[in-house]
Amino acid sequence: IISKLPGVGTTVFSVMSKLAADHNAINLSQGFPDYPCDPHLVELVNKAMKDGFNQYAPMPGNPFLKETIARKIENLYQVKYNPNTEITVTAGGTQAIFTALATIINPGDEVIIFEPAYDSYAPTIKLLGGLVKTYELAPPTYAIDWDMVKKLFTANTRMIILNSPQNPTGSILSEDDMRSLIKLIKGTDILILSDEVYEHLVYDGQKHMSVMLFPELRERSFIVASFGKLLHVTGWKLGYCLAPEQLTTEFRKVHQFNVFSVNSAMQQAIAEYINNSENYTGLTRFFEQKRDYFRHLLSQSRFELLPCNGSYFQCASYSKISKEKDTDFSMRLIKEFGVATIPVSAFYQKATDYKIIRFCFAKENSTLQMAAEKLINV
Ligand code: PMP
Ligand code: GLN
Repeated sequence: IISKLPGVGTTVFSVMSKLAADHNAINLSQGFPDYPCDPHLVELVNKAMKDGFNQYAPMPGNPFLKETIARKIENLYQVKYNPNTEITVTAGGTQAIFTALATIINPGDEVIIFEPAYDSYAPTIKLLGGLVKTYELAPPTYAIDWDMVKKLFTANTRMIILNSPQNPTGSILSEDDMRSLIKLIKGTDILILSDEVYEHLVYDGQKHMSVMLFPELRERSFIVASFGKLLHVTGWKLGYCLAPEQLTTEFRKVHQFNVFSVNSAMQQAIAEYINNSENYTGLTRFFEQKRDYFRHLLSQSRFELLPCNGSYFQCASYSKISKEKDTDFSMRLIKEFGVATIPVSAFYQKATDYKIIRFCFAKENSTLQMAAEKLINV
């Protein structure tokens, strides 16, 4: 057959997690917690199953869950989303991204992405016949020069994908960034896909700049969220997409034939769980402590830590340690030192050689400590 995605192999997350298992290495590569979620949440799933939530959920999502999401958003951001017309529950952030792109992108449409980028964006755009326009961010700050972004605009620019906090860099967008973006897209019909799956993981008292806080952006944005990150259950693959009614109507036309609806019992359980905001308000502090602990541990190593303002990823330069490419270096880290990481070049489409790797610190402190004991010998 003729491949629709020539040049695309197996995602780096699967590859690195398998290598970690094969070599019995500590897995700081793929982003997922190695500790259990709240047992109460699991009990709520059991309860939902006993209560009969075992058949198809309504296509756009469990009504109670959508209402709970709307309340959570209003409490956090003082913005109203209508649960009936503007919130759709999805099979994780990934499906929300895929469906939003499939809703909008026609062959020849251009989508601007900021690399290093989460690895699903570019292949999804290409699969739909769209063209990826890349703005390459550079370490250590990964800052955006918006005048340069404007240079990527053409008559075919259809969408811009934002991701703050950003995977893999841990950088966040500031209010100034958002104001620059507003100016840039004023008078255009460019839409925004804002991947905010790490919305709660913004550190040092900084505020998460959701696009929903800016009416000029909110009116043209799909916002993607993930319960995997919020509740330490990446394997449940549940999330949601927020968008104004007109966009949501079109999104749901695709969603209904993409998955129709998603896991019913888990939706009900999550609704009951997050109905109590105490079940997630400690999340920022929880991960901030892990970030601080991991950075402290690695301060004794030869790695140079990049800033980490958000997400549960810490990037580090190894240029003082080795001249190897990051793919070779991370292979050697697994084989010789027993620690799996992600080479950041995997998040760029073109070849790069910044000598940076990504660690995930959503792990038990004991795991981080064991990893650090190995990493200080590198
Ligand atoms: N966007 C980003 C930036 C991510 O890091 C991830 C995955 N971890 C996702 C989307 C996908 O989220 P989910 O696991 O809910 O599909
Ligand atoms: N988002 C996670 C990461 O960046 C993994 C997602 C996946 O495995 N597809 O590590």
